[in-house]
Amino acid sequence: MNQLTSSDVHSHIVIGGGISGLGAAFFASRAGTPSLVLEQDDRVGGCMNTRSFAGLEDFWVEAGSHSCFNSYGHLLTIMEEIGTLGQIQAKAKASYRLWRSSKRVSILSALHPLELIASLPRLRKLDKEALSVREYYGQGLGRKNYNDLFGPAFRSVICQTADDYPAAALFRKKPRRKDVLRSFTLPSGLAEIPQALAQSKGIEVRLGAVVDALSPDAGGYRIELTSGETLRAERVTLAVPPDVATRLLQQVAPAAARATGRIGVAEIDSLLLAFDRKDLNLPRMAGLISVDGPFLSAVSRDFLDHPRYRGFAFHFPGGRLEAEGQIAAACQALDVAPAKVAAVRHERNRLPSLRKGHWDLVVELDQALASASGSSMAVTGNWFLGVSIEDCLTRSHSEMTRLFGRF
Ligand SMILES: Cc1cc2nc3c(=O)[nH]c(=O)nc-3n(C[C@H](O)[C@H](O)[C@H](O)COP(=O)(O)OP(=O)(O)OC[C@H]3O[C@@H](n4cnc5c(N)ncnc54)[C@H](O)[C@@H]3O)c2cc1C
Repeated sequence: MNQLTSSDVHSHIVIGGGISGLGAAFFASRAGTPSLVLEQDDRVGGCMNTRSFAGLEDFWVEAGSHSCFNSYGHLLTIMEEIGTLGQIQAKAKASYRLWRSSKRVSILSALHPLELIASLPRLRKLDKEALSVREYYGQGLGRKNYNDLFGPAFRSVICQTADDYPAAALFRKKPRRKDVLRSFTLPSGLAEIPQALAQSKGIEVRLGAVVDALSPDAGGYRIELTSGETLRAERVTLAVPPDVATRLLQQVAPAAARATGRIGVAEIDSLLLAFDRKDLNLPRMAGLISVDGPFLSAVSRDFLDHPRYRGFAFHFPGGRLEAEGQIAAACQALDVAPAKVAAVRHERNRLPSLRKGHWDLVVELDQALASASGSSMAVTGNWFLGVSIEDCLTRSHSEMTRLFGRF
């Protein structure tokens, strides 16, 4: 990695090295503009966070995203170019179970089939773009089905209550590429993707670079790091969570900052557990959807067999339960004594809390951004179209087209 001096003026600096930021840097480089990515952490990837455990050979668990699909068009194009598409691995089939009244039960046990049959014809007539998740799926799948099954299932997808979330942001229909596995991972987990992206041509990454402030500077931008270093750039892309974007936009686009300031962020405590296979008496499963437990969801690593270990990521509402309480709750759900845990890790995840009316807010933000910065600043992330990896990349692609023209 190059050492920069304060006199350097970069063509394009991206703040945030998650998939949105790395994707933006990738598209900018394809448009002929090299990019410097500033990432506060000691690794790239943000929520694409595959973690291994000291002393457990090559065993890993996904602390964040765990599945990519053949409907992720931008992602597939990127993976083709950076050489990771050829390595994708099919995920073994397994079902989710519900965690209800301190028991693991089948998904079907919570379904009200007659209500579903009576409600489904309504679903097609409802305006998904205008309704919240609760309004849309509550009417279209039935109130009891929503409360007992689908509400908890959607909550487990976004690790927070889904009731007020915009229905269209939860699942977007996207064309599938039939030549690619429907759902896949990579041999060393999904973090291989951001890691490979960070090494690709036209992208330079600086880790441990915490951006503290952003201000206008002679037609470009001045970026201050908490280390005291100052960088300059002709163009800047923000690819950070909405609360960080709000702070960084204050001086350069105050009206845009007012819009982003209305987007909340859910804090998530993620507990990663590894077990020796022989210590778990549990059938293969995809994970747990919690109906009334202290955790929101659990995702297993059973989709890719390991000869010796099994692993799980349990996601809890942030700051509610101490480490010991988390481990006790997870072990109860897995029917195993805490003493059998072979390794443990704690991670923090953050996801945006989008609300009904979000699309108006994005229009307001985009207008404020365009009038304050023309085409010299972009904002991307998982808080525009939705939280999926492909939603992030779709926004990054359209923002880079706005900044650099068609490529
Ligand atoms: C538990 C969980 C499971 C998920 N499962 C899936 C899944 O299976 N499939 C799927 O498609 N999606 C999934 N998602 C969603 C998806 O992973 C995320 O929405 C996406 O990775 C977010 O990418 P991002 O770059 O927008 O944000 P982030 O990943 O949050 O990246 C933002 C980056 O900005 C950095 N940053 C913040 N502030 C600063 C600063 N001041 N200076 C410098 N850097 C800064 C952060 O350190 C971070 O690296 C999941 C998410 C979670 C949490």
